[in-house]
Amino acid sequence: MQPTMMRYELTLTSLFRRAGELYAGTEIVSRNPDKSIDRKTYADFDRRARQLASALRRAGMNKGDRVATLCWNHHAHLEAYFGIPIAAGVLHTLNLRLHPDEIAFIATHARDRFIIVDSVLWPLFEKVRAKAHFEKVIVVRSADQPLPGGAVDYEAFIATGDPGDPLPALSEDDALGVCYTSGTTGKPKGVCYSHRAIALHSLAAGLADTLGVSRRDTVLPVVPMFHANAWGLPFACVMVGAKIVLPGPHLGAADLLDLFERERVTMAAGVPTIWLGILQALDAEPARYALTREMRMVVGGAAAPESMIRGFDKHGLRVVHAWGMTETAPLGTVSNLGPDADAWSDDERYAQRAKQGIASPFIELRAMSDRGPVPRDGTTPGELEVRGAWVAASYVEPCDEGADKWTDDGWFRTGDVVTLDASGCVKITDRTKDLIKSGGEWISSVDVENLIIGHPAVKEAAVIAVPHPKWDERPLAAVVVKEGATVTAEALRAFVAAKLAKYQVPDAFVFIDAIPKTSTGKFQKSELRERFKNHVW
Ligand code: ADP
Repeated sequence: MQPTMMRYELTLTSLFRRAGELYAGTEIVSRNPDKSIDRKTYADFDRRARQLASALRRAGMNKGDRVATLCWNHHAHLEAYFGIPIAAGVLHTLNLRLHPDEIAFIATHARDRFIIVDSVLWPLFEKVRAKAHFEKVIVVRSADQPLPGGAVDYEAFIATGDPGDPLPALSEDDALGVCYTSGTTGKPKGVCYSHRAIALHSLAAGLADTLGVSRRDTVLPVVPMFHANAWGLPFACVMVGAKIVLPGPHLGAADLLDLFERERVTMAAGVPTIWLGILQALDAEPARYALTREMRMVVGGAAAPESMIRGFDKHGLRVVHAWGMTETAPLGTVSNLGPDADAWSDDERYAQRAKQGIASPFIELRAMSDRGPVPRDGTTPGELEVRGAWVAASYVEPCDEGADKWTDDGWFRTGDVVTLDASGCVKITDRTKDLIKSGGEWISSVDVENLIIGHPAVKEAAVIAVPHPKWDERPLAAVVVKEGATVTAEALRAFVAAKLAKYQVPDAFVFIDAIPKTSTGKFQKSELRERFKNHVW
């Protein structure tokens, strides 16, 4: 028997239209570079994104053309998130923390035709423009900032569009956006998302057992909109009609806490380094901010240390640990406790929450060794492989590396080393490149780091492999001490030795001022390995 269902395209246009009809009064709040607050509504957003869509088409943007953004998180960027794809263009979010040459390389590789850029990023953009060509440069600025030569003002540009222009019919397989990996390992590689992938990803983000984004939420993505689509939150929020708060360029702990409090934020998302800073600020002045009780903080991009999850619980705030990659749009797994956890001890519950959790619907996982799938026993490590409805099947061409990332039977190799347990819960022990090989044993740098970070005097810690004449490699811990605190290498060694096998304890603890970070706020371990490669043991 043939199915008798309608064929209905899963496109962003459908989500966008619905939001415009149902949530007109819901707020979209942005903080401007001068820290003033801009308040708009979904009705404004609906009109302005349609104007942008119309203006782009009138300016010659054709189906499939790339339009880049070089922007902080704010309402115009959200308008671009929708206005470009609903006009059949492809949204390309450029990472403003990369070197200008790298941004130019990526923009050229993606063949971006137009670009929307923040005026506060103009000095950076000028360096990019020297090496990449854009046909049209559209600048988002406040009225008191001058319009740079050769650019069009964003407000003037969207005014050339008519919100009444019909939106083009799209197929769910059409391209919606492109994102380049941040290059923590290797050269940046492009991933092109379809409408279908993002529509399904948004639905998944709304499930109570994943991120549970709802119209009752006020969501503040700290994660930049150029980092894996701010983890899909802008799309998911508009789908459900959540109030959206966009923080602009000011991402210091006090600035964020202030915004959480003022806008009654119920959910925020960012990498661990952001949350460590916020936790320290809260610990220093626990009574200063009146935050929403049980506010959820989605932590991903790197492992959330257990001590951080415990630390936020003390303030009545709940860490939701999630794993994903640019190649997985990015939501892959989320760590929420199941019903059996009711019978567990506190320690067991925290240990579970520090794992990366179980796969979302439409995402499948397996862990592989050279000999095939590893047992789901929670201890045997293997490389995580993934397939699913929003997993990349290839990189944007031309791409001379990365073909070996897909297996012959159609799975994507993540480069993450994990254990899987009988309940399907994933624990990331490392990235393949960061594992430490000591005398035939593998040491998980993540496990050791997360223990060290639990010491009250430690602000940040990264553990790396350093060549060793006898053991091949040995772990070295690079530690940043909290302001005003002191601790010795001996004290740290004793602190971790209680919880680790002897061979896992770092041979050296070196104190440094700051851990170098990648463009998305993760530890840049390759730089540390280079710095300490000649360490004398
Ligand atoms: P890049 O590869 O440049 O860092 P991504 O942002 O796509 O760019 O990073 C994906 C990687 O981040 C994953 O493969 C994994 O190593 C790491 N990661 C993401 N979330 C987590 C998490 N919750 N715990 C540990 N590692 C994570």
